[in-house]
Amino acid sequence: MLENAAITIFLLVGLLLGSFANVVIWRFPRGESVVSPGSHCPACDAPVRWFDNIPVLSWVLLRARCRDCGAAIPARYPLVEALSGLLWLSAAIAFGLTPRALLAAIFFWVLLILTFIDLDTMRLPNPIVGSLAVLGAVAAAIAQFTAVTAVPLTYDGDVPLVMAGLGLLLGGGLSGAVAGGYALIRGRSGFGMGDVKLLGAMGLFIGPYVLLALMAGSLVGAVYGVVSAARASAGLTHKIPFGPFLALGGIVTALFGPVIVQGYLSIAALG
Ligand SMILES: [Zn+2]
Repeated sequence: MLENAAITIFLLVGLLLGSFANVVIWRFPRGESVVSPGSHCPACDAPVRWFDNIPVLSWVLLRARCRDCGAAIPARYPLVEALSGLLWLSAAIAFGLTPRALLAAIFFWVLLILTFIDLDTMRLPNPIVGSLAVLGAVAAAIAQFTAVTAVPLTYDGDVPLVMAGLGLLLGGGLSGAVAGGYALIRGRSGFGMGDVKLLGAMGLFIGPYVLLALMAGSLVGAVYGVVSAARASAGLTHKIPFGPFLALGGIVTALFGPVIVQGYLSIAALG
């Protein structure tokens, strides 16, 4: 009963923070304040009334149009809200009513924001990635010096600070070396410094499992790249941001990393 209440609260908070994620995704790259003024229609500037600002539901009730000017509201807004709700929900289901669930939910939520900013701007802003890294480092230190189970989300042993540090080094260091080597050989980088920093921050949250996130993200990214290159007409290649794939890899790894590795090892033992 208490658990159901907690899960419901996580879902509702996730939906509400999904609205705020939309604000951050739109305003942060434009250098606008994310707290004031309140939400307004980008087409007619009319303030959004509180009853038109209910996650997902308002978009459906308004039939995807601004109440004042009738401008179309992109489906992306309710999509981000729904994804945010689902990510908070999955954190609660995976980790119960614990500090770890809250950290996982915030981790996922920031990755969601970074995903859409990267899609829009091809950038992963340092202040956001840096804040994520600071949160991860502080949480790992708290886990080390108190009895609180926090990060890495994939680790339950006695040295969380060491494992988070290892994740930081493996995520940031290894990908940094690969990116540097690639840039030296090819004279250009296919993998930005933003991606390297993001992997470092992710490493604090998922420890050495960050390598699994990198592999999973690279795999999905490569498949997407091949498919979109095949579909692009006249051989035009467009740059694909890598952040969204890393974010996806990070979320899947945080939720299922240990299960995936266990499964792989038991299959490998059979072979
Ligand atoms: Zn409007």
